[in-house]
Amino acid sequence: MKYVLKCITCAREFESNPKASTCPDCGAFKGTLDVIYPIEDIRKDAGDELAFRRNVSVFRSFLPILPLADIFDLPPIIVGDTPIFQSPALSQLTGIENLWIKDDGRNPSASLKDRASAIAIAMATEAGASIIATASTGNAASSLATLAASVSMKAVLFVPRDIPQPKLAQLLIHGAHVLKLDCDYDSAFDLCQTACEKFGWYNRNSAVNPFTGEGKKTAALEIARDLGGAPDTVVCPVGDGCIIGGLYKGFSDLKELGLTDKMPRLYGIQAEGASPVVKAFQDNDEIKPTEAKTMADSISVGYPRDGVKALRAVKKSDGAMIAVSDDEIMEAQKILAAKGGIFAEPAASAAMAGMIRLLKKEDIEPQEKVVLLITGHGLKDIEAAFRNIQTDLEIIKPNIKSVENKIKQVLKTEL
Ligand SMILES: [Zn+2]
Repeated sequence: MKYVLKCITCAREFESNPKASTCPDCGAFKGTLDVIYPIEDIRKDAGDELAFRRNVSVFRSFLPILPLADIFDLPPIIVGDTPIFQSPALSQLTGIENLWIKDDGRNPSASLKDRASAIAIAMATEAGASIIATASTGNAASSLATLAASVSMKAVLFVPRDIPQPKLAQLLIHGAHVLKLDCDYDSAFDLCQTACEKFGWYNRNSAVNPFTGEGKKTAALEIARDLGGAPDTVVCPVGDGCIIGGLYKGFSDLKELGLTDKMPRLYGIQAEGASPVVKAFQDNDEIKPTEAKTMADSISVGYPRDGVKALRAVKKSDGAMIAVSDDEIMEAQKILAAKGGIFAEPAASAAMAGMIRLLKKEDIEPQEKVVLLITGHGLKDIEAAFRNIQTDLEIIKPNIKSVENKIKQVLKTEL
């Protein structure tokens, strides 16, 4: 057996099953499952084979610690293996010399969610499913639409009424069946759950599908591979909590395998208007559903389905959960774009805003090796970007005198 599934709350174990969802004893919220591999056996059998290998797809080189039965069940479009790089300007601005940007906006559908969708499609293929469904604030749906199209699988997508237009365009151009619902993400999620049960569709919903986190953990595997070990700190945005839960799982698997020697401190950043995991962390309490109101649509989640794993990730890694305002998120988006050349969507910019705050609080020290995870590209939400920039540009007469006058005015200097 390649893996077993273990309830995060009661620790009950279940046999491997590509259609697995949550623990029947603990329910959908507390009973999310971990995918546990026989790490000791893998270490003995794989020997030098399982290592940080460059120029080999992360899904292929880490196949023993992925739930896939067959690498060829993955969609043909290449997911992951996104760049990680340093930005001298951002290092100077933050004072963190060893600051690394992991740019997951450079996935096929322009968000980290492709990692989860790729695994979900492989598991759906293994389960013999012809229809796969998910609820989504936008990115999970656009990634599922993209990758499902590449394997001719039908995708049914439950999205809230306020999904950004570019994400909606992605769903439609890839030919997915889109249900634009008169409700928020949290209610769309519940409806998708009911529909999957009733119609027998393969359920890709974050967290209740235990394999989505296994897809997202590949970001951690790449970070450690490309940096030659685990960094000190990773900062990422948190909506449902599935990404930070996946990072934790990836870094723990590597540590157990003996490929890294430490667990990085994981910091999860939420928007103040949608911060149930932050509240639970601060109160040392269970997560309670809240309102969700933020312009960062990808993390506009009031009932975080992977909140239990998100809390485990920050607590066990000695990190923390903090919230930032929408104004801080907008400011961070401008900094990333104008100083770093990185166009991040608002949710991804929240990570930058959080990092700035953590530096001020001295939770992060400038000498640390810090990874900032950019989870989605800025073109995903053009309206948000336009709200953040000057749009009433004057129309200039097309002659050199007008150009000279305008540029003098802009640069505030003689030419
Ligand atoms: Zn349980």
